Amino acid sequence: SQPTRISLQIHPYGKKRKLMITRDVTAVQLAEAMRRDFVANVSHEIRTPLTVLSGFVETMQSLSLEESERITYLGLMSQQAHRMQTLVSDLLTLSRLEGSPAPGPGEWIDGDELLGHVLQEARGLTAVISDPPHEIVQSSVAGLWVSGAKTELLSAMSNLLSNAVRYTPGGGRIEAGWRLRADGWGEFFVNDTGPGIAAEHIPRLTERFYRVDRSRSRETGGTGLGLAIVKHVAQRHGGQIDVHSVVGQGSTFVIALPPVRVREHAVN
Ligand code: ADP
Repeated sequence: SQPTRISLQIHPYGKKRKLMITRDVTAVQLAEAMRRDFVANVSHEIRTPLTVLSGFVETMQSLSLEESERITYLGLMSQQAHRMQTLVSDLLTLSRLEGSPAPGPGEWIDGDELLGHVLQEARGLTAVISDPPHEIVQSSVAGLWVSGAKTELLSAMSNLLSNAVRYTPGGGRIEAGWRLRADGWGEFFVNDTGPGIAAEHIPRLTERFYRVDRSRSRETGGTGLGLAIVKHVAQRHGGQIDVHSVVGQGSTFVIALPPVRVREHAVN
């Protein structure tokens, strides 16, 4: 349909000259629809754990429970509270990323140091949630230094690794590392042997709350905001996120960042 336009006519200082401002109303309507969608999604995401939580509270009030049952119920309640905490924390991260200016050229950060940190975290995660745990390997040391905001980069890298752990069946292989592109850009990549993602989903993965496998996401504590956060971090650093995936074989998620520094004598 044709975009609706409104015109505003202003007579500055009583002069005859007119200033016409044309605004595209469809863009405004679209933004409003997206905002409504977002609020509906957030409400739904919060309501689910809250319903479960209050259900448990009522059950505990009405039943006289054995000590072991009481402990089980409290454990389940704590899981739901934790889920809400993660959601709120991801929402805050996202709103900070959207609302603040890009970090600009920051300090030079050792890519391998960031990598070591997120690999250790992922090994901790797989030990807790996967049986058997994944084989998590670091690709060769690239010796790259990237410019930007350390906490933001860490959060993006950690999101990609935790997705690989959460979506790849236990015992699978996950490889992560940095590589230098011919044009001087640096790429952080995470490669998994998980279920893969069909091509039609790929363009939508970074939308807030978009999930391919809703139940797997929920089961493993996903908020549906991880890849939206990764996309924002990449863009704020002048870079982008890329996804390559083959259903039944696995996925590779890449954060590409503008020209990086290479440490001398780096082994690639
Ligand atoms: P979630 O919290 O649901 O994991 P994300 O924004 O991180 O949200 O990811 C969006 C969706 O992309 C996930 O729900 C999942 O369906 C899919 N996805 C992300 N990473 C992977 C992966 N490594 N393998 C398969 N599917 C993935």
